[in-house]
Formats: sequence, structure tokens, C-alpha cells
Amino acid sequence: MISMTGVAKWYGAFQALKDVNITVNKGEKIVLCGPSGSGKSTLIRCINHLESYQEGQIKVGGMVLGHEAKSIDAVRREVGMVFQQFNLFPHLTVMENCMLAPMRALKVSRSEAESRARQLLARVQIAEQADKYPAQLSGGQQQRVAIARALCMRPKVMLFDEPTSALDPEMVKEVLDTMIALADEGMTMICVTHEMGFARQVADRVIFMASGAIVEEAPPAEFFSNPKHERTRKFLGEIL
Ligand code: ATP
Ligand code: MG
Repeated sequence: MISMTGVAKWYGAFQALKDVNITVNKGEKIVLCGPSGSGKSTLIRCINHLESYQEGQIKVGGMVLGHEAKSIDAVRREVGMVFQQFNLFPHLTVMENCMLAPMRALKVSRSEAESRARQLLARVQIAEQADKYPAQLSGGQQQRVAIARALCMRPKVMLFDEPTSALDPEMVKEVLDTMIALADEGMTMICVTHEMGFARQVADRVIFMASGAIVEEAPPAEFFSNPKHERTRKFLGEIL
């Protein structure tokens, strides 16, 4: 579903990704973790070309992600993304937030976009908030809207970049539960998160990055009980 081969990225003279190789099969759930500044956001932002990269190749659903607009649009259609800051459009209602991209990018009719949005808002348990504006919702509710909005585009892959780290503690669970439900339905997911309970429960593999490179990759049971690299042990010692 996703492959990254020999991907390298620089911000000016600073190398943010070094020879990154990752394969994610359909239905797999990957948790990506690592210290601040290790390149996690950069890595997942490259997958839908929110960041460009200079070396290597990225493929999504069999398509090569080139640097031209056509392939970027084609890939973005397959990839949903949820950010730490919810990034909802503040001047649109919850419903309008969910309808905009399907109508604009997929050219679905207003009635079809609306019925799909209702269905997905119900799925993230927020149907009754459809006519509110983002500012009228809690952080956890806004993040669930962001997930529903991404799902309205019928993505084949969902990317999450620390979706719970800006939330008050009591709202973390509702968002994680939404992600767990999505995982149970078979969605292919890459999640940057330090929620290690989520990683244990959901991830097929945990990938640990440091200084722009993948250091270690293992199923969660092995990753947590028997980390191979000193750098991984140090990280786990700090967060667990
Ligand atoms: P965090 O856990 O804090 O979110 P991260 O692992 O997501 O960190 P990135 O945001 O991918 O890390 O950043 C990786 C490195 O690239 C950092 O050293 C950062 O300072 C640098 N970087 C990120 N964005 C830019 C940018 N637009 N211009 C220059 N350097 C950048
Ligand atoms: Mg980040």
C-alpha cells in the first residue's frame, strides 16, 4: 500500500530524513515514534507530499508519488491525514467541513456529500454536533470531526501526526477509541504517537526513528520487551 525506498530529505543544508525504507501492506497499522526532531512529521508529510523529498521513491497504492501536480493529487486522494492541531475550517460548520473536499475534489453531489458526512459523523459519535462551528466543540470532539472529515474522502490510508498530544487528558481516550475502531475495520494506518498503550493494542509494527533515520522496527511485544538498540532503550526509558 505504501513503500518508501531510500528516501532522503533536506531542509536547506540540514538532512531531516536519511535513507528511509518502509513498506506498509494493506490493512497494516504502524506506530512511528522517536524523540522530538527525529523526523516523524517530516516522514509522514512526505507520504502525501506536504513536504517534498530529494532522493528515493515513494509509492502509494501502486502509484509513484512524483513531484508533479498530477501525481500529487492522485496520491492525496488516497491518503487521509489528521494533525495534532485539528486544522478544521473555523468559518464552516462541522457538516460543511466534512462536505467541502468531497464536493470540490471528488465532484460528488451535495446530497451525496451530506449523507456520507452524516454517516461518518455518526461513526465518530458526533452526529448531534453537525451544525456547530469548530470553536463550539471540545478538543476531543474537534479531533473526531477531523477524522470524520478525512474519512469522507474515502482514503485507502490514514496518517495521524500526534492526534492526541494537544488534547486535555480526559479527551485522549475518546480519540484513541475512534482510532482503534478504525483500525478494527481494517484501515491501513501510520500513526505518529507516544501513546504506547495504543501501540501495544493496535500496531502490527512499531518503527523507532532518531536523527532522521529508522533505528529499529519490530512488533510491539518485541519492541517494548526487547529493544535491540541502545538509542531505543534510552527513548523507552524516558517515555514509559
Ligand atoms: P516532534 O516530535 O517535535 O514533532 P518530529 O520527529 O516530528 O518532532 P520533524 O518535525 O519531522 O520532527 O523535524 C525533523 C527535523 O527537521 C527537526 O530538526 C526540525 O527542526 C527540522 N525541520 C522541520 N521542519 C523544518 C522546516 N520547515 N525547515 C527547516 N527545518 C525543519
Ligand atoms: Mg512532529
